Amino acid sequence: MTLACTGIGIGVSRGIALGEAHLFRHGHPEFTARSIDPTELPAEIARFLAAVDRAKEHFHRVKGEIPEATRSEIVAFIDAHLLMLDDDALVKAPIRLMEEHHYAAEWALQVQRDALVDVFDAMEDPYLRTRKDDVDHVVGQILHQLLNREHDLGDLQGKVIVSQDLMPADAILMRNKGIAAFVTEFGGPMSHTAILARSLGIPAVVGVRQATHCFRQGEPLIVDSENGVVLAEAGSEIIEHYRQRMDDAEHHAGELKRLVGRRAVTRDGRDIRLMANIELPEDIDTTRQMGADGVGLYRTEFLYMNRGVEPDEEEHYAAYRQVLDGLDGMPVTIRTLDLGADKQLESGYVVETPVCNPALGLRAIRLCLKEPKLFRPQLRAILRASAEGPVRIMIPMLTNLHEVRVLKQMVEETKASLASEGIPFDPGILVGGMIEVPAAALSADAFARELDFLSIGTNDLVQYTLAIDRVDDEVNYLYDPLHPSVLRLILMVIDAGERQGIPVSMCGEMAGDPRFTPLLLGMGLCEFSMQPGSLLEVKRTLRASDVGRLRKAMRKVIPELEAGVISPRLEKICSGKMIH
Ligand code: PEP
Ligand code: MG
Repeated sequence: MTLACTGIGIGVSRGIALGEAHLFRHGHPEFTARSIDPTELPAEIARFLAAVDRAKEHFHRVKGEIPEATRSEIVAFIDAHLLMLDDDALVKAPIRLMEEHHYAAEWALQVQRDALVDVFDAMEDPYLRTRKDDVDHVVGQILHQLLNREHDLGDLQGKVIVSQDLMPADAILMRNKGIAAFVTEFGGPMSHTAILARSLGIPAVVGVRQATHCFRQGEPLIVDSENGVVLAEAGSEIIEHYRQRMDDAEHHAGELKRLVGRRAVTRDGRDIRLMANIELPEDIDTTRQMGADGVGLYRTEFLYMNRGVEPDEEEHYAAYRQVLDGLDGMPVTIRTLDLGADKQLESGYVVETPVCNPALGLRAIRLCLKEPKLFRPQLRAILRASAEGPVRIMIPMLTNLHEVRVLKQMVEETKASLASEGIPFDPGILVGGMIEVPAAALSADAFARELDFLSIGTNDLVQYTLAIDRVDDEVNYLYDPLHPSVLRLILMVIDAGERQGIPVSMCGEMAGDPRFTPLLLGMGLCEFSMQPGSLLEVKRTLRASDVGRLRKAMRKVIPELEAGVISPRLEKICSGKMIH
């Protein structure tokens, strides 16, 4: 067998692709820094503003090309870029530089870009680092327009894009040109590129160090996004092996489609609820297509992001009505705003002090309780929507019972004020909480006594238990949902729900990963909420699983977890050998 050159990274999407490498550099176009005569100033400013307008048209055009089924996350990225094109820092500041120093437009923009990037660099916060890339991308687009350089991507049909990183707009245009896969040097499982690749259904491996130096333009590559591997110079046997896997995957996709509409029931007859995580009302189409039982997590932060002012009660209400109407009576779990940390608000409320640790700071319920003016319109809108269909309220990032009590008090006050205004709502609306902080998991019984349901947010629970920032590429190798401590906390929550007689679901990424489905069933989980795209795969796995046997096997694993070890038994459960 011929050995192949290998790049190892993180597989962030599904599938395998074979195609020629296309090395992509999204650097800024070159220009000569020049000054202008003061008499030319008005014309130069007009030239600059016209370029900004054309850059806006470019992003609007890209927005129009986003596939319907995957709009929400991607639209948010593009909207962020459009917002920057209205920002004084990128529009007024370069004009000031032109006026004061008589720089030509390109030079003024570059000087302002360097100043902004210096500020971001000083912050060293992973979230803000992402914003730095956004600034660079938007500046690059204005420069292209100023210099009238067509940003022509060329013929990309069937190509594997190898790049340092990818910007959302480029990724969308490339996808529409028929690329086969992405390989990038930067990025982790939660990076922009990763989210995009998953949403667009493109095989992708990120974090492949030196990829743009290791792989040559035009050489054939194999991208295995399930295992995070990129192969060059593969021999015929290896190519044949991957072709076979691609055929199998196609066959498998066909089988999955046939599961839409089939019951989510285990081999031994237990019904499991499969719910969808959504972010925008537009996501309801995929939720329905995949046959979800409802929405287990509606992330409402997207209503607040990429805008200067917070949404008012009517905007909240309209969004919730749209979801309820689109789901024809299926239950919708609306998570109250989870702003802060990696989801910052453009306007005043969220502290952006670079020295603090935003993941441990003023986010989610903490922010809501501190800023009732921000939160009350949402609460009123959720309650109003509850008159129109089955709505549940879910509180993110609970740490102590005081938060539950204050929140419930606010719900009661809001009900009273709606009642006094003669506005209908569901008086019995269920109020649940997310368990995503280890302290809450350890006190899950107490939370279960005061709440109507619990949902385990493993994305944050893993982050906080293992003390690793989920958006920091440098430490994402430590991100391990199977760490014995994480599993013990999950078990505590499920057991507490069982003891107190309330439902427990899971809405972190772990719930949508079929490798963990048998394990979670064995732990007693009966409700899973996930990206709609993962639903059929999880359904397939659970329909092949025997919960009775898995629970028995798990009982033997628990003492091992308590001893802090991952046992071969646990690996057997996860690898699917214990399914039947
Ligand atoms: C989680 O933390 O698991 C979760 C679902 O919430 P988010 O990813 O929005 O923080
Ligand atoms: Mg969370």
